[in-house]
Amino acid sequence: MTKEELTWYWETLLVDAHNDVISKVKDNGLDFLQRQTGTHSDLPRLLEAGVNLQVLALFAPPDQNKSTTLQRILSYAEYILECTDRDPRLHLVCSKADLETLNPSAGKLAVILGVEGGDCLGEELWILRLLHRLGVRLLTITWSNRNALADGIWEQDAKGGLTRFGREVIEEMESLGMIIDVSHMSPAGFWDVARVAAGPFIASHSNAAAICSHPRNLTDEQIRCIADRGGVVGVNFCGPHLTESGSASIDDVIAHIEYLWNTAGEDHVGLGTDYDGIDAAPKGLEDVTALPYLIHRLKERGHAERRLEKLMGANFLRVFAEILPG
Ligand SMILES: [Zn+2]
Repeated sequence: MTKEELTWYWETLLVDAHNDVISKVKDNGLDFLQRQTGTHSDLPRLLEAGVNLQVLALFAPPDQNKSTTLQRILSYAEYILECTDRDPRLHLVCSKADLETLNPSAGKLAVILGVEGGDCLGEELWILRLLHRLGVRLLTITWSNRNALADGIWEQDAKGGLTRFGREVIEEMESLGMIIDVSHMSPAGFWDVARVAAGPFIASHSNAAAICSHPRNLTDEQIRCIADRGGVVGVNFCGPHLTESGSASIDDVIAHIEYLWNTAGEDHVGLGTDYDGIDAAPKGLEDVTALPYLIHRLKERGHAERRLEKLMGANFLRVFAEILPG
């Protein structure tokens, strides 16, 4: 496949709803702005892949006290802000107006700051408001553990959903214009969000349980609920979420995409690669620069360009524009 064979790809906005590279580079003293060898992504390779908007996850492991978790989240946010100061190719998206400036051929990467796991909030709503002021526009309500907002997927046997504080967070996020992300939540938590949230919400990096019965994956009912609400499911590249054996290739990613299209409809599926949050990338998608190849393979299978444009970015852009403030 040459660049010329996929001309429309480079003219189409590409959005990835989940990438964990920031904690990886920051914790290892690497530079996000320079090409790396030990990661799946960095600024040069994200640009090379044609990614125009990247949700960068700010994630701290939950096995720490709350102030340490918050400090780590803040240090990652500060690192990204400092990167945007150092490199004019990188800029933050905070509003609907910012989304409207995206241009597939500008050679720039726009970034949405997303906090993965509400642990850093403790039980303080003002921390959410402060993170919003710093530019954070997405919150994954839980990681896989339990926090003060809700239960994550590891706690699914407890059947716990949103707490009172979790409900307040959902309401505050909707009034601030923040994107609600239900990836990693327990089933009870998911259905509580569906009941409490007035607007659309997303699963930034979750696959189909019907294809791979990993607890992190979504049931058909959950997939249809996200679609009915106008949200989007981002397909992730995590081996154990793609196949039950855990070893996966580009074909397994395609199988999940096609299944999600059939279940949710083509307006509700996007990409949430989880690059640098996964141990081993699928064969054929070894790093972020393989994304054009994924789209090429889907096109070869007869999928229309319009459907692929929606997968690449139009769907997430639609829901982000609906949620973010003007
Ligand atoms: Zn995750």
